[in-house]
Amino acid sequence: MSALNLTFPDGAVKVFPDGTKPIEVAQSISKSLAKKSVSAKLNDAYVGMNDIIPESGNFQLITTNDAEALALLRHATSHLLAQALKRMPKFANMHFGVGPFIDNGFYYDTDNGAGNQVSVEDFPEIEAMMHKIVKEDLPIISRQITRAEALEMFATDPYKMALITDLPEDEILTIAVQGDHIELDKGGLVPSTGWIKHFKLTSVAGAYWRGKSSNPMMQRIYGISEWKQADVDAEVTRREEAKERDHRTIGRDLDLFFTSQEVGSGLPVWLPNGATIRRQVERYITDKELANGYQHVYTPVLSNLNLYKTSGHWDHYREDMFPPMDMGDGEFLELRPMNCPSHIMVFKHKPRSYRELPIRIAELGMMHRYEKSGALTGLSRVREMTLNDGHTFVDPEKIEEEFKSILTMMMAVYRDFNITDYRFRLSYRDPKNTEKYFDDDEMWEKSQAQLKRAMDDLKLDYYEAEGEAAFYGPKLDVQTKTALGNEETMSTIQLDFLLPERFDLTYIGADGQDNHRPVMLHRGIVGTMERFTAYLIEMYKGAFPTWLSPLQVQIIPVNLGAHGEYADGIQKKLQSAGLRANVETKEAKLGYLIREAQTNKIPYTLVLGDSEVEAQTVTVRKYGEEKTQTMSFIDFQMAILADVARYSRT
Ligand code: ATP
Ligand code: ZN
Repeated sequence: MSALNLTFPDGAVKVFPDGTKPIEVAQSISKSLAKKSVSAKLNDAYVGMNDIIPESGNFQLITTNDAEALALLRHATSHLLAQALKRMPKFANMHFGVGPFIDNGFYYDTDNGAGNQVSVEDFPEIEAMMHKIVKEDLPIISRQITRAEALEMFATDPYKMALITDLPEDEILTIAVQGDHIELDKGGLVPSTGWIKHFKLTSVAGAYWRGKSSNPMMQRIYGISEWKQADVDAEVTRREEAKERDHRTIGRDLDLFFTSQEVGSGLPVWLPNGATIRRQVERYITDKELANGYQHVYTPVLSNLNLYKTSGHWDHYREDMFPPMDMGDGEFLELRPMNCPSHIMVFKHKPRSYRELPIRIAELGMMHRYEKSGALTGLSRVREMTLNDGHTFVDPEKIEEEFKSILTMMMAVYRDFNITDYRFRLSYRDPKNTEKYFDDDEMWEKSQAQLKRAMDDLKLDYYEAEGEAAFYGPKLDVQTKTALGNEETMSTIQLDFLLPERFDLTYIGADGQDNHRPVMLHRGIVGTMERFTAYLIEMYKGAFPTWLSPLQVQIIPVNLGAHGEYADGIQKKLQSAGLRANVETKEAKLGYLIREAQTNKIPYTLVLGDSEVEAQTVTVRKYGEEKTQTMSFIDFQMAILADVARYSRT
């Protein structure tokens, strides 16, 4: 009998007889190791605990202490789910797509045809069946089969058949067998179903087979699986909190905005409360830009299609654009997907001199992008959006200087909004993708290197991402996370040698010649009003600082008849000082009205009764505080004005 030489991570080599399984290796070392060994790896490929180690090599046991073991557990749980569903008469004819592990859990794509659809009401029954299979403690064993055998084995499962058909003819496949259930799988999951104890099905959602909308819609069943019940509970709580913080939930509770099919997908309607937040952001950023040398303009959302042909959008960005409108008289109009061509027209409108540079054109520019319907989310991914856009036309020698000044302004804005949780991403082109990216190697090399140098000079941390650049040039993106954990771009600074070329932009240099080519910097500081507001909602959890809050002061007269007039007078004074105040007119218990003001996260609540009327004072309660303070109206007004003065000019 030949021998198996296994080299362990510490370098030790041990010899085992041929046909040894990882479980036997673990047992030979110690009982406790065998108990916590989930799987094994031979030369970095998984070998299940019950599978024969195929050859000598580098050997490693994966225990419950290893982070990767959790992925194996979650993956095994998706198989357990499929096995349970198959055992239930109402899902007996179900077909299965893929069932991977994901961050924090797993899912399985299922299709029960015209039969019973899975709903959350079915979860307890499905989980009970899963627990039954756990009790059976079925060993999970891998086997290798030929492609032909696989085609026979999965003949009744069209999705698995499609996966197998895609493989080369001579492919050897691995299957994972647990009792009567077989999965296509690379192997190396947990040793037996008994290992899967702490799990919970969480949701079910529609998902197209292979993510393509032309394919059948399947039901994707999601779940959580952990080594400890406490971790399942913690994950459930984390998700509940994330949902509470989700801007769509808060947007509904605080009456900020809504979206509806009736209006159209991805076309949010801003209600008065949400509109107030947006207006504050718009005023703030406009003032900031004016103070930083930007000139604000208004340009049309519709333009002649030729503008986007010249810019290259039509060739490289068409997928994201709405179809052109044929006006019937030879003119084609296009809803702009970006504002750059419009601002280029502002630059080109008259001869420009080097003395004017840098020319900074800004606009709260509305644009339309044909985002995929599956990607649309509340305010954070929409089809109509207003970008806090700006384009600087600079002398090529001044690129770094301008880049740094934009970055400085951006950081100042972040400080004002208390935004601290973000990462810088340098976004490069994907050189292989010639359809998306303008084809000019030299231009790309030069501009990418220049951006990188600027970031290195500033000693800022960043990571690099290929394939995330705009079609005309590389960018510095500021990446933030949504409540649900998705990473999104908020701010961006983009370097562009291309569009000035395509539009033949020139300025008159010191030599008097009108043939000098400017470079363009595209930038969005707060990004789109939509995405930025979504971010603010989630970051502040709906409790906005006073300057942004839709309603700043809620005035509650103890008795409407006796104190209503005084309350009205206070409201008027606050309003004429530019503050947003409301008098509560509902007849309800005082305690209830105060609580309601807190639920609506209003920064200040004033309670006015006999003593306040008499002394011409107000009793103030700040959001989130229990204590109240009685002060003269003037003192209150001074305090609240000081609170907002840092940010707004009104
Ligand atoms: P993404 O990768 O998120 O689609 P992008 O790289 O296409 O964005 P840019 O062309 O750089 O975005 O657009 C500028 C800004 O517009 C982004 O920083 C982002 O804040 C915002 N934005 C882009 N697409 C959307 C959208 N569909 N809904 C809301 N805001 C958006
Ligand atoms: Zn631009």
